[in-house]
Amino acid sequence: MHPTDYLGDDFPEKIKELARHPKVVAIGECGLDYKEVPESSHLISSEEKERQKKLFIRHLELAQEVDKPLMIHCNQAHEDLFEILKNNTSRLRSTPGAMHFFGGEGAWEKKYKYLAMGFLLSGVITFPKYGHAEEIKSIPLEKILTETDAPYVAPVPHRGKRNEPSYVVEVAKKIAELRGETLEKIAEATTQNAKKLFGIN
Ligand SMILES: [Zn+2]
Repeated sequence: MHPTDYLGDDFPEKIKELARHPKVVAIGECGLDYKEVPESSHLISSEEKERQKKLFIRHLELAQEVDKPLMIHCNQAHEDLFEILKNNTSRLRSTPGAMHFFGGEGAWEKKYKYLAMGFLLSGVITFPKYGHAEEIKSIPLEKILTETDAPYVAPVPHRGKRNEPSYVVEVAKKIAELRGETLEKIAEATTQNAKKLFGIN
């Protein structure tokens, strides 16, 4: 129930029921998105922020209830997001989830705080402008996930195309390059990290 796509502040019963299904491995994508998109009439008022915060807390409660990790989305809202997590640590598992599409405004400053809470960091990092080689090197390998997101932001060299999961290899290649490690090592580690986080055998 993405913060900008779902406009309620609580879930329909059916969602709670589905959340328990064994094939559902995480709760999300949830979080806060304060990026204004005027042409889509997505404007950030204080009411909108409150709605998103309330919905995010409902996700934390649901994740705790069904004992599944969170897949967190945060866009230009790291101060408020961190505040909510900090005030709800009792709801978080020891492996609470992943910060998906990690990066952007205010993200790196919070890196160690999220890691200390047990979160993994996941990203789409092949863009030339990403430029966070030192940051990528500083994250422990067991805390990194790869992802492609969809349908936008296809990684280099597939920019402009519809994104798809198989492109995740490009993300792994970039992590290997930035860390000076082999693709095999990064692929193995991130695969194990994902299996562990999502409870996949
Ligand atoms: Zn997202």
